[in-house]
Amino acid sequence: MKKILLVVALAASLAAQQQQKKANRPSKEAGDDKRGYIDTPQLPNQKWKVHDAARSRPRKVTPGLPLLSEAPPSDAVVLFNGKDLSRWVSVPRGGEPRDPTWKVANGEIEIVPRTGRLVTKEKFGDCQLHVEWLIPREAPGAGQGRGNSGVELMMRYEIQVLESFENVTYADGQAASIYGQWPPLVNSSRPQGDWNVYDIFFEAPRFEGEKLVKPGYVTVVHNGVMVHHHKEILGRAIHRRVATYAPHAAEEPLSLQDHGYPIRYRNIWIRRLGQYDQP
Ligand code: MG
Repeated sequence: MKKILLVVALAASLAAQQQQKKANRPSKEAGDDKRGYIDTPQLPNQKWKVHDAARSRPRKVTPGLPLLSEAPPSDAVVLFNGKDLSRWVSVPRGGEPRDPTWKVANGEIEIVPRTGRLVTKEKFGDCQLHVEWLIPREAPGAGQGRGNSGVELMMRYEIQVLESFENVTYADGQAASIYGQWPPLVNSSRPQGDWNVYDIFFEAPRFEGEKLVKPGYVTVVHNGVMVHHHKEILGRAIHRRVATYAPHAAEEPLSLQDHGYPIRYRNIWIRRLGQYDQP
């Protein structure tokens, strides 16, 4: 009898969860991930709503070529040197960390979809980060569904990775956007199948106890073109809602998002940023 009650309770809770999910799902009229949305909340101190359909897409800039695959400086922590994932663990959604199953071949990492994001064993705060990424030429899909991944600073603050040379999505969700907050200043994406380079300069947020005392800031150079200049981060990246902060440690791991697409990464290194006049 107890077992039956338990099963009934579980089924009811599952049904409630699904209904909640349905309620969060926008109607067709509210938009989609190609057009953007008209029913999302207002972004603080901006003219726009989250993923605003009316927000213009950044103009295109062709990066200067060739892009060099920059070698790490001597004080960098080399997170991926083309050989192995020894500095990473894989963390499936809601699961425990385990050895990564993403593929390594030809000096590149390839995401194995739905195996969980790749998370550094080491933690970082303020940093300079270099990451190269590629959406395979044959990758299908549209909107947020074309080569979606992301560079997740402190596992929370996402610089979007997406095919954005031709593929159209809402402005604050295209490649190099601070996801759901700021589009890049310009779109300097390279064609699908070519390597893209991010150089990211990040100031971690500061908390005193539960209180945010300084937000995070980020500067992003995409293929040699500055696309964010010391831009304030509103909080943890989130779909269709306004990002907010929740307190966390001064240093947290870096992660690469598993959004279900087999995109590739290479040449990943990071430098901790110190203070002036402190050896
Ligand atoms: Mg993403």
